[in-house]
Amino acid sequence: MNFDEAQQLERSYLLTLYTPIRMPMVIARGEGARLWDTEGKEYLDFVSGGRAVTGLGHCHPKVAAAIRHQADTLLHVSNDFYTEPQLRLGERLSKLFGGRSFFCNSGAEAVEGAIKLARKHGYKTSGPEKHEIVTALSSFHGRTFAALAATGQPKYHKGFQPLPPGFSYIPFNDVEALRAAVTERTCAVLLEPILGESGVYPATPEFLGAAREACDENGAAFVLDEVQTGLGRTGKMFAYQHYDVEPDVIALAKALGGGVPIGAVVAREPVASAFEPGDHASTFGGGPLPAAAALAALDAIEEEGLVENAARVGEQLAQGLRAIQEKTSLVSEVRGRGLMIGVDLARPVAGRVKEQCAARGLLINTVGERMLRLLPPLVLSEEQAERGLGVLGEVLGSAATE
Ligand code: PLP
Repeated sequence: MNFDEAQQLERSYLLTLYTPIRMPMVIARGEGARLWDTEGKEYLDFVSGGRAVTGLGHCHPKVAAAIRHQADTLLHVSNDFYTEPQLRLGERLSKLFGGRSFFCNSGAEAVEGAIKLARKHGYKTSGPEKHEIVTALSSFHGRTFAALAATGQPKYHKGFQPLPPGFSYIPFNDVEALRAAVTERTCAVLLEPILGESGVYPATPEFLGAAREACDENGAAFVLDEVQTGLGRTGKMFAYQHYDVEPDVIALAKALGGGVPIGAVVAREPVASAFEPGDHASTFGGGPLPAAAALAALDAIEEEGLVENAARVGEQLAQGLRAIQEKTSLVSEVRGRGLMIGVDLARPVAGRVKEQCAARGLLINTVGERMLRLLPPLVLSEEQAERGLGVLGEVLGSAATE
């Protein structure tokens, strides 16, 4: 299938949701940090499958073997039954974060689950008044209704109101606004430790510290959305570990299944105990296939030292980008942590830069027309990082003189 055929089929048979963001190729195959399209062209994937999912690279052998084995053994039974992969995955996440898990199928569902848990905790400790949730402007938490209400970007709300009530938004990294917004009616503060979709803006230590303090003072749950930042991407297993804070709840998804859809709410006490039997559920959540894939993904992250690799190669990329910045005034800022990097451009040419990188075999992401976003897989080698930097240097250099 070529790109024209794909576009025709999409127009006829798919709801029109992704058309403007589709890249001009049809992807057929992947291995590690590389993808191939149906014409046989090879790409270096600096977006981990597009949205920071394939942290282990494409078709990691350990994940693929676990999926094959599980497919031959037991694909699915629901949560009416115990299955070992789900229980072992809960044990594994508890060793990494503490607490206990609920499994679902996506990032938005993990955020929904965390919101319901925080609401129930507020209800149990203080009654129905304690239901307000404070989130950040420019945040992104997903597209289902409560996750959408939590997302502090009016452009995503438009046309879908009324949204679930009880959400308020503060400017990201504004400590005073946060202190003023959190009251005894607040059941949760929900934040990304690094704004992802809005362009890789890390929280300041003061902001996350103030959020923890305000939650403690008001009996609210401190919830971190680590859907994009979690599981090694930032050079630590969880992004909050760059800070001197401990959340009560984290939401995980994206990289958790090594490419297979799975999300998790991981909650510590006392918040974890707010859920009682029947309060929340998912038919597919934590089924044997995604749970086995996630266990294999966590094995690979740990056994292959991928968190450390993300820190090392991320630093190499950031330094290389700063070297490019010194040579061209088109790059105005480079920021991020580990393999989550934002590059601000002085002129609105991000779309063109992305196209020209793809033509040279490098896939990158953009945020609006003035920002590039790099989210390569944690398995990225130093040689691949150099290759990507070479393409970016050429493309940004020539875009600067156009
Ligand atoms: N939370 C964050 C921080 C995200 O970046 C995303 C997706 O980009 C989501 C939640 C939603 O995840 P999903 O698309 O799997 O529902």
